[in-house]
Amino acid sequence: VTDTVSEEKRSEIMSKIHSGKRKEKWTGMELKVHSWLKAKHIGHVMMPDVEGSPDVMLENGGDPIFLFLDGCFWHMCPEHYERPKSRQDYWKKHIEEASERREERREELPYDWVRIWEHDINSGEFKEIIEETLNGQS
Ligand SMILES: [Zn+2]
Repeated sequence: VTDTVSEEKRSEIMSKIHSGKRKEKWTGMELKVHSWLKAKHIGHVMMPDVEGSPDVMLENGGDPIFLFLDGCFWHMCPEHYERPKSRQDYWKKHIEEASERREERREELPYDWVRIWEHDINSGEFKEIIEETLNGQS
């Protein structure tokens, strides 16, 4: 497969992708990942304005890789999600069915992406995940 997008064209495309969320409104997860990427001088855009609303775009030298920073509760982490005892129908609809639809949509996205769970951000494990992703070991 020939890479038809030149380096120049690519950086032009990349420079047009801007963050769609003001920094004052970033969550703790977003701030933590951003600070680490910045400290490591890893080129990235937070909350890039692209299809599927990923949380981070890693510039990666070639095709960017996108990250989803998923909260353990809202995104139904297999290790930590538990349906609340009250209002079961509400949670089923708003968390479980919504998560299922979101996963289906993500499978259709035209780019490479990696999920990082909230617990990986809290434990610091996310650093390894990102490094491995950038080294192509994922
Ligand atoms: Zn979790």
